[in-house]
Amino acid sequence: MSGKKQNGIHTRAVHAGEWKEIPAGRPTSTPIYTTPTFTYDSMAEMDRVFGGEQQGFVYTRHGNPTVTAVERAMTVLEEGTASVAYGSGMAALHAALLACELRPGAKVLASQDLYGATLDLLVRVFDIFGVETRTADFSDIDAVAKQARDLKPRVLVAETISNPLLKICDLAACAEVAREVGARLIVDNTFASPYLCQPLRHGADFVVHSLTKYLAGHASVTGGVVIVRDQADHTALVGVMKLVGGILGPFEAHEVTRGIKTLPLRMERQCSNARAIADKLSRDPRVKRVYYPALNEPKEKLERMLRPPHGGALVSIVPKNDSRQGAFRFMDALQLCVRATSLGDVFSTALHPATASHREMPPSRRAKLGITDGLVRISAGIEDVDDLLADLENALAASE
Ligand code: PLP
Repeated sequence: MSGKKQNGIHTRAVHAGEWKEIPAGRPTSTPIYTTPTFTYDSMAEMDRVFGGEQQGFVYTRHGNPTVTAVERAMTVLEEGTASVAYGSGMAALHAALLACELRPGAKVLASQDLYGATLDLLVRVFDIFGVETRTADFSDIDAVAKQARDLKPRVLVAETISNPLLKICDLAACAEVAREVGARLIVDNTFASPYLCQPLRHGADFVVHSLTKYLAGHASVTGGVVIVRDQADHTALVGVMKLVGGILGPFEAHEVTRGIKTLPLRMERQCSNARAIADKLSRDPRVKRVYYPALNEPKEKLERMLRPPHGGALVSIVPKNDSRQGAFRFMDALQLCVRATSLGDVFSTALHPATASHREMPPSRRAKLGITDGLVRISAGIEDVDDLLADLENALAASE
């Protein structure tokens, strides 16, 4: 028997089994690193990592390999310099706004069609700190330019594809306005995904995604990310991540990494299904109006902004019975298409903006923006197109 006294049961239970060195053989896909802490063989090495002189991880709120895999993938897909992932799309938007150094007295010019929570973040939270937000119709670039010249905003906030009327924003024109007035341009690219559009190419400074949607793609996770071109912006975003702490968790990061791998395959299919839905429903007498970029936007703008065939994977429709009752009857009759408030999942989903995304908006404002009580937004999934069309036709019959 060796003379070395064995450690006690408590010590053994805590330390037994842990890897003292990284196991041989590189995993073919990034493992889920749940650990909040990372250790090193010496304090000198740990000190170098802490000080940023040596690459490595020390504490998950400051960086985690599973989360870094998402950030690297997003940097590549958006053709940026660096990315920082957060716990939700809203946390990512908040971080991007903070990284723009909005101080008391600063102004923000935001698209009037922004996702409701983004506008609320500006007018309810940033407002408390003395930041004033005005809105403009970002599909009218002359109006944006005029208002920007008057307001001298520090930040412009746009969305590539608006919700729920699916208007395409001319991002290059917005970037030109931003440059002219010395503002930063934040683009929420959630509805397009990097498969359809890469806003940095058009001159955006910050690209934001709710990872919850197309990137994760399976209704299994909540997350967000900001991608930047400028290294200084990355440093600011890392600062927000470390201090505000709204990080993407490693489990969620793993789901997103897996989702990203099939994004182009899913998007190809989702866009072709959406196109088929838009074409079919625009010829159906039971439908009053179809909103689909390929049907509504000028060809030249679409060709500049979205990957062919330029339509996207969302379609909004208004049944002939343009009322809350008509929309509810239509949605209640859906059997494949899931009634849900999100989008971008493998299964098709339907949302009623007047009672979901735009519920808090006064009816008069909704009417002004063209969001009628009958409007339904459909996010096309990857199902067989004939099954989807049959489901929608069946639901239309019920809407009358
Ligand atoms: N941006 C857009 C365009 C969205 O539709 C959403 C959510 O629906 C968000 C941001 C917020 O994302 P999350 O729910 O992941 O915080």
